[in-house]
Amino acid sequence: MKVIEKIQSLQEGKVVFSFEFFPPKTEDGVDNLFERMDRMVAHNPSFCDITWGAGGSTADLTLDIANKMQNIISVETMMHLTCTNMPVEKIDHALQTIKSNGIQNVLALRGDPPHGQDKFVQVEGGFSCALDLVKHIRSKYGDYFGITVAGYPEAHPDAIGNDGVATPEAYQNDLAYLKRKVDAGADLIVTQLFYDTDIFLKFVNDCRQIGINCPIVPGIMPINNYKGFLRMTGFCKTKIPAEITAALEAIKDNEEAVKAYGVHLGTEMCRKILAHGIKTLHLYTLNMEKSALAILMNLGLIEESKISRSLPWRRPANVVRVKEDVRPIFWSNRPKSYITRTIGWDQFPHGRWGDSRNPSYGALTDHQFMRPRARDKKLQEEWATPLKSIDDIKEKFKSYCLGKLRSSPWSELDSLQPETKIIHEQLGKINLKGFLTINSQPAVNGERSDSPSVGKYKC
Ligand code: FAD
Repeated sequence: MKVIEKIQSLQEGKVVFSFEFFPPKTEDGVDNLFERMDRMVAHNPSFCDITWGAGGSTADLTLDIANKMQNIISVETMMHLTCTNMPVEKIDHALQTIKSNGIQNVLALRGDPPHGQDKFVQVEGGFSCALDLVKHIRSKYGDYFGITVAGYPEAHPDAIGNDGVATPEAYQNDLAYLKRKVDAGADLIVTQLFYDTDIFLKFVNDCRQIGINCPIVPGIMPINNYKGFLRMTGFCKTKIPAEITAALEAIKDNEEAVKAYGVHLGTEMCRKILAHGIKTLHLYTLNMEKSALAILMNLGLIEESKISRSLPWRRPANVVRVKEDVRPIFWSNRPKSYITRTIGWDQFPHGRWGDSRNPSYGALTDHQFMRPRARDKKLQEEWATPLKSIDDIKEKFKSYCLGKLRSSPWSELDSLQPETKIIHEQLGKINLKGFLTINSQPAVNGERSDSPSVGKYKC
């Protein structure tokens, strides 16, 4: 679903929030990020987004993470996409990939200059600014994508002078350009980080004055660490109000105190923003969990005890799978847990599903399917009879389901298991209709585990 549709369908008075993540540098980092996302998504953000590494440095990883967010974590996902080093073929590859993965939200950006360069340079066959990218997405993909663009409450850093502010003219030009991005088809704005809430509120007002009417989502970056805060605000040329500088100066060597202050400040900023009627908050998590959640908890937007799932899995977020309500019972939303659970499986190389890449896996001649088996004779007798029509095949499957045959080419077992008797007549009918079945599982909610047909010894 498009994020804009979610926001537009908000009930009166309801506030929503979202989390931003970036692609981690290591494989373990990626695994841990999914664990973290899974915990954070349990609090029901309206969407989460994943950034596009500077200069396209994380393109494949961003695409992969976006896919897993949408389809395994099952959260509405917005992928950032920039024009830096991206000829149109690469842009389209990225868009087609997320489209085929059921993702409907893109944050369309120009991107910063590649590492080591001062100025943004349009790559051959690529775009020069986010406006071009928005136009391209709308003209090529119609209405499929919800498009978000970046907004700068203090103007884009390039327009900010050495005195730390943009001239009124540069600020107005930036606003006018933002309007062109919206007029070209963007339906949502997420802002650059800021620490002066009045500047953000003025920016929203200024946008409204020139006819930018779409939702403007404030980007809130909790202060997690003093040096990181200085680096980030320096890079973005963010204004830091004097009281924040003074408060941090006094505690800058005490990491715990800086974090606690960051939560306090973030909470107060959000309170003020919400009091002015803004109903959406976007948290730059920097892949960290505690401060973002603490702010939302202080605001009363989340509660540990309110985490609930109507089903053992989350409903799919993928646009083509949203209506699905059935999952295999072993489905897990958490890739790491799945990997952890199955990591030792190759220690059982002779099991039915042994891993043939394991050095101790038996030679192929030992393989269960290659060995002459006693039951082969039975199979020959029961299944190698001339089958003259499709109906003969259906009849054969039906007979097996009803217990009239003992062998099956698709099963190692000698005839059906007792549990299948619960549904064998229905299976017979299904097979006669041409839906040939090779395994099944009856619904047995609430059966005792010592049940002779479906109890623990049968599972
Ligand atoms: P644009 O909207 O194209 O604007 C850039 C500047 O140029 C503005 O000052 C604008 O006014 C001016 N400009 C451009 N074209 C015109 C024109 N035709 N007429 C007049 N003025 C023009 N970077 C990443 O690399 N990866 C990310 O994932 C990422 N995510 C971001 C998320 C958010 C919410 C924000 C705010 C920034 C993000 N960035 C990201 C940083 C972003 O790429 C840089 O700020 C970049 O310098 C500008 O991108 P943009 O999309 O705002 O550019």
